[in-house]
Amino acid sequence: MRKFTIVGGGQSGLQLGIGLLKAGHQVRVVQNRTAEEIAAGRVLSSQCMFGASIQHERDLGIDFWSDVCPPVQGISFTVPHPEQKGAKAIDWVGRLDRDAFSVDQRVKMPRWLAEFTRLGGELVIAEAGIAELEAYAAEDDLVIVASGKGEIGALFARDAERSPFDRPQRALALTYVTGMTPRPDHSAVCFNLIPGVGEYFVFPALTTTGPCEIMVFEGIPGGPMDCWKDVTSPDQHLEVSKSILDTFLPWEAERCGAIELTDDNGRLAGRFPPTVRKPVATLPSGRQVLGLGDAVCLNDPITGQGSNNAGKAAAAYLTRILDHGDQPFDAAWMQGTFDAYWAYAQWVVKWTNMMLMPPPDFVLEIMGTACAVPELAHRIANGFDDPRDFFPWFAEPEAAAAYLQDLKAA
Ligand SMILES: Cc1cc2nc3c(=O)[nH]c(=O)nc-3n(C[C@H](O)[C@H](O)[C@H](O)COP(=O)(O)OP(=O)(O)OC[C@H]3O[C@@H](n4cnc5c(N)ncnc54)[C@H](O)[C@@H]3O)c2cc1C
Repeated sequence: MRKFTIVGGGQSGLQLGIGLLKAGHQVRVVQNRTAEEIAAGRVLSSQCMFGASIQHERDLGIDFWSDVCPPVQGISFTVPHPEQKGAKAIDWVGRLDRDAFSVDQRVKMPRWLAEFTRLGGELVIAEAGIAELEAYAAEDDLVIVASGKGEIGALFARDAERSPFDRPQRALALTYVTGMTPRPDHSAVCFNLIPGVGEYFVFPALTTTGPCEIMVFEGIPGGPMDCWKDVTSPDQHLEVSKSILDTFLPWEAERCGAIELTDDNGRLAGRFPPTVRKPVATLPSGRQVLGLGDAVCLNDPITGQGSNNAGKAAAAYLTRILDHGDQPFDAAWMQGTFDAYWAYAQWVVKWTNMMLMPPPDFVLEIMGTACAVPELAHRIANGFDDPRDFFPWFAEPEAAAAYLQDLKAA
């Protein structure tokens, strides 16, 4: 039995903590908010998790929601027509091979905190700073930082080579609602790209009050969807959400005639620069700690990958820890552990950062071709579960041309 401390009780920290407990280890999680505070607080994310990430939770016996959470069964993609108001230039839908699920973290994390404690984990409710990290690192075999905020986040140096942006690329907002008209046939993440303005996507989810829809707004900074600065009340937040749809996406507005906020905290607005950090931080004492999840790999939510990445990172770290037996967790092992995860995550980061840029012509051609080629729509939809499949054909014009030619010839 080895001893671990994980700072941060979110998707990555709790998933890893529970995995380590189940493997017979001693685990302390340090978390700055209680389960009750999380449940009664603001929404944190839109957290749509695809098949592979859900499978990691099932493997640990902590997928408590697949039979009660409304499933997300596909991805639809729409671009409004540039000249004809109310018409669509691109419009397709692809079915997901495995349902995706979005469980409000205000529901999920309190339940996982209870499960962690039930399994014998030590839960410390406290804000951890450098002094606390020093104390844990002196006592334990390994300290993992699964929280990117505050002074402990700043311990991890920004990796400039892997972080092309030094400022936020989108003004973000979330609106959790009930009363939305479902899309026909089957549920989906309905993704709308409005060139020069931003993106809007919406999908079913489970929140503290039951089923809901989560509206996600990604406004290009300084553009018309970057409009949350003066919004202070829940009612205003809902009104601004509706007015964006009235202006740019009438087919989405039509679904929203009867929507209401799920609760006064079912809303969020903010922005941050996507950032990859060096995964190993050295404390003033010279001891080292390992970063996990958003703390070291923070993506813009445009591709809905953050929670998926956090879960996949936790699964990769768990395997590395268990494979390491009783050997010491030194800096080389820490770097190797992040590298094992980065072998996957680099593709997610590349794809997500690409989606933040104006789409090049060859990407628009891919998206347009998917309207007529269901096989392509299906492949793009399922790429959200494993974005490695987008490379190279979604990233390089020559590879795109060759792939589209093959598809058309088939
Ligand atoms: C607007 C928005 C929409 C999103 N939509 C999606 C989506 O659709 N799909 C998707 O996959 N991802 C999405 N994400 C991203 C996703 O929510 C995150 O990537 C994921 O939650 C990261 O998990 P984590 O465990 O790394 O960190 P977190 O979830 O941030 O967990 C960290 C925990 O540590 C605690 N903590 C912080 N500081 C300290 C401290 N000093 N001491 C102790 N505890 C501390 C925090 O309270 C928190 O509980 C979205 C994010 C945003 C902002």
